Amino acid sequence: MIGPSIRIDSCKGCGLCIASCPRQVLAFSERINARGVRYAVARSAENCADCGTCYLMCPDAAIEVLELAPLARTG
Ligand code: SF4
Ligand code: SF4
Repeated sequence: MIGPSIRIDSCKGCGLCIASCPRQVLAFSERINARGVRYAVARSAENCADCGTCYLMCPDAAIEVLELAPLARTG
């Protein structure tokens, strides 16, 4: 399994991950989370490049990327 894993109730709906993903993997859900916002979801995880950009951009540490590229983990 690759791609982003988003903790729904930690997301504040800022959209930074969605805007920064180079492969348009992420989008806002139609649903509302416990914080009362539309949260980010992976619409096409199969297109994820494991680049780690969404992980690095999220201000609330709501995203983990499985099989993240080594550069993103250490950089
Ligand atoms: S790891 Fe990169 S390609 Fe995958 S969802 Fe995050 S920003 Fe997009
Ligand atoms: S960057 Fe984090 S808080 Fe903002 S929409 Fe994405 S997952 Fe949610």
